Amino acid sequence: MRRHYFLDEYTIIAAERGKRPSDFQHPGTGGRSDPKTCPFCPGNEEMTPPAVAAYTDGGVFADGKERVKGWWARSFLNLYPAVTAEPGPPSGEWVADFARGFHEVIVESPDHQADPSRFSKRDLQRLVCVYRDRYRCRIYEPFVEYVSIFKNWGRVAGASLSHTHSQLIALPIVPPALKREMAAIGESPRCPYCSLAGREASSDRLIFENERFVLIAPYSSTVPYETWILPKGHLSDLEGLDPIDRECLAEVLGEGLGRLDRLLGGPPYNYTIHQLRDPGYHLNLRIQPALSTIAGFEKNTGIFINTVSPEDAASQLRTA
Ligand SMILES: [Zn+2]
Ligand SMILES: [Zn+2]
Repeated sequence: MRRHYFLDEYTIIAAERGKRPSDFQHPGTGGRSDPKTCPFCPGNEEMTPPAVAAYTDGGVFADGKERVKGWWARSFLNLYPAVTAEPGPPSGEWVADFARGFHEVIVESPDHQADPSRFSKRDLQRLVCVYRDRYRCRIYEPFVEYVSIFKNWGRVAGASLSHTHSQLIALPIVPPALKREMAAIGESPRCPYCSLAGREASSDRLIFENERFVLIAPYSSTVPYETWILPKGHLSDLEGLDPIDRECLAEVLGEGLGRLDRLLGGPPYNYTIHQLRDPGYHLNLRIQPALSTIAGFEKNTGIFINTVSPEDAASQLRTA
């Protein structure tokens, strides 16, 4: 049983003998829908709420009476939001709060067939800039305490539409998991993520590194082939990324997604960006392939059983 680097969380690594990447090959991410009826495709902009930001070569615009065309990324409020800017009163006799916030869909490419694991360098750099821009736009809203940015790729990973997109949910609270992390960070003499990035750079869990970032298989990986992207220097959120950081993050994200794609044949996955406006926090991005199901033991104990050791996963991903 392995304990998380600095949290009271555990994973059981139960590597099954002889298990190969081919045992995790996935029969695809669920197929592609028809671009004619895809609300995320160019020409179908009327099928979504107006863009809050359409990213074009000429600048960033919000939709007016006419929908902006010629975009390379586009963000709009979710038609079926989990949270809204003007929610109804809380209901229920237990503790309830207004589900106040913003829920955006970020369409990452006008190309219906685009696959982020094969994004070009320019596409990846643009994606990082869009994430940073959307984050900065929402984190300073008066009631917003946390901005969750995540991607679901493939139907089993939660993507309801196949056209590549991410989501942003801005919340009026800091999620409990982040609060627990901050408490543990506050008790450490040095930022544990800074220590981690330094230590893992020379471990057998390192997969790739560049000047500013590392890509590792975390010691207590909760799912097979989980990877984390960490800045080597202390940065708390996307806003703090300078232009070189952005290039380096784009590169390492491309390496993380590309290697998974080559090793496992296009698996479904989620990636999540963990960040806080609090300068004590350390930005990190986690990629979790959706290859295993959360079942009874995990629900009963909160402890995961992972059948691929992170050292094996890293070794396979290094050569993929
Ligand atoms: Zn489409
Ligand atoms: Zn740090």
